[in-house]
Amino acid sequence: MHEASITESILSLALSKAQEAGAKKITRVNLVLGELSGVVGECLQMYFEVLAQNTIAASAVLSFETKPTTLKCRKCAKVFLPADHNWACPDCREANVEIISGRECHIESIEVD
Ligand SMILES: [Zn+2]
Repeated sequence: MHEASITESILSLALSKAQEAGAKKITRVNLVLGELSGVVGECLQMYFEVLAQNTIAASAVLSFETKPTTLKCRKCAKVFLPADHNWACPDCREANVEIISGRECHIESIEVD
């Protein structure tokens, strides 16, 4: 139930931001999802519709921006996107890499009325 708990935190954050802004209704929640986050956008939307019932986010649409996996070689510091799950550095073949992006799952912004 990974997505259910993530959806709960997204919803509560969106609601508190909307409250701060004095909004009456949340129309859209823009999210950033990393390729490696393991989060399925359709699942979030599904849970969101259930959890957001009777809140000002009830009719909000979730929109997702997928972030690709970006790696950085610890040896030569090259930043690259892995091809075909090959995480070795394309320059020096070093497989000792750092994940720079791809794990994120957070709210980019919300749109309110
Ligand atoms: Zn390298």
